[in-house]
Amino acid sequence: MQFIETRGNDGQHPERVSFSEAILAPISSFGGIYSPESLPDLGESFFSDHLSSDYKTLARAVLTAFDIDIDAAIIDKALTLYDDFDDGSNPVPVVKVKDDLFVSELWHGPTRAFKDMALQPFGIVLSSIAQHRNENYLILAATSGDTGPAALETFKNKANVQVACMYPEGGTSDVQRLQMVTEDAANLKVIGVKGDFDDTQSALKRLLASKAFKDTLKEKNILLSAANSVNFGRIIFQTIYHIHSYLELVRQNEIEQGENVYLNVPSGNFGNALGGYYAMKMGLPVEKILIASNNNNILTQFINTGAYDLRDSAVIPTISPAMDILKSSNIERILFDMFGKERTKELMLQLDNDKHYQLNDDELKQIQSIFSADYCDDDEGKKYIKEAFSTGYLMDPHTATCFKAYETCRDKPLKTIVYSTAEWTKFSPVIANALTGEKDAHDIDALKSIAAEAGIEIPAIISGLFEKEITQNTIIEKDKIESEILSFL
Ligand SMILES: *Cc1c(COP(=O)(O)O)cnc(C)c1O
Repeated sequence: MQFIETRGNDGQHPERVSFSEAILAPISSFGGIYSPESLPDLGESFFSDHLSSDYKTLARAVLTAFDIDIDAAIIDKALTLYDDFDDGSNPVPVVKVKDDLFVSELWHGPTRAFKDMALQPFGIVLSSIAQHRNENYLILAATSGDTGPAALETFKNKANVQVACMYPEGGTSDVQRLQMVTEDAANLKVIGVKGDFDDTQSALKRLLASKAFKDTLKEKNILLSAANSVNFGRIIFQTIYHIHSYLELVRQNEIEQGENVYLNVPSGNFGNALGGYYAMKMGLPVEKILIASNNNNILTQFINTGAYDLRDSAVIPTISPAMDILKSSNIERILFDMFGKERTKELMLQLDNDKHYQLNDDELKQIQSIFSADYCDDDEGKKYIKEAFSTGYLMDPHTATCFKAYETCRDKPLKTIVYSTAEWTKFSPVIANALTGEKDAHDIDALKSIAAEAGIEIPAIISGLFEKEITQNTIIEKDKIESEILSFL
């Protein structure tokens, strides 16, 4: 499979690249990104053939259908990372929660959030390509809390790769911060920045675009890359669990093979939902993809009106911070897939220049034939957390946003797969507040009170964090980021 540019070609970038090139240098002409030239058609028999396949067998078959330029041995090695999830034979459990609502739990990996689903195998793939080409990479990451730990975990002690990860000091939960600052591999640098997530994100974008920074790295024989969510090396691993979750419902005798379902995705940068869209285009029987947001409801507005409007909007901090996003990067791949490169370039340039674009009626109809959307505010989210808990299901605030879309976005009584993107342990103060009303608890106290309330143990991987030595002490002003990274290298 080859990858082509979402905004057309400027004569400076290659028009068409392989998978490995697309993941090493994901940015293409006019600030576009690489997208698959065509998607494999899995065919109906694929699903019945894989009814009894385990996760890794299914994953191998999906990746084979993509026909990418990565050796089978490397893919096999990458997929062994799923062996270390809670249950290696079933890394993504699908749990019935109520009526026709099923939760697909994507957080059973080492950092307890769904970023592991893609970043765990991606680490092996990227490091293997770098070794094969005899190149060294600096991976930059900016995180509001989940990407950072997952990127550090996957690249720690990997050959030919170093990681510099920036987080807003005071802007993450205690658990998320501890997951980063207790990482002690020599190829990892964690940088607390005095500022908010936008400051770290802007620093990241500036460095990725800076020729001077790239030249300085080149003198040290280092190339620059990023593990952000437009990287197709992440997206490809996010098609697999949608197919797996569907097959799980068939196996549990909840649906017949071929029956349509709703996919219900808590969305930010739209990588998770894009994986579902591609799975649908590859043949997965999906009625619609329901896009759940929090009070940063730009995606709800986009899908309901065709207007993508960043004017007068500022990020609102919510209880589901991984979805506190306005510029949702992977929407561009949907535009490209539906409307082609010329129109995508036009719309994305309007967004850059005017902070706004409007789809026409036909385009909006196409979007609405696939997606429905609603948003869930913090109080509603806490109500869903409490309600689910009273029926025996403990969930995090990102997952909770889907329960609103489940109620408002379905027009058929079909089975619905809600994607759970984080374990309760990562957002315990919010959950404790939802369950008992207690306010501003520290993570450790909230973890204890929820564990007691639910009659469960705090997972050792989380409680152990509070005892681990803090090895990454760097906290700096935002104008010192570049020099800090260079001195680490
Ligand atoms: C990253 C993240 C999301 C958003 O996923 P996208 O693929 O960016 O839409 C939702 N929930 C959690 C917990 C996350 O970490």
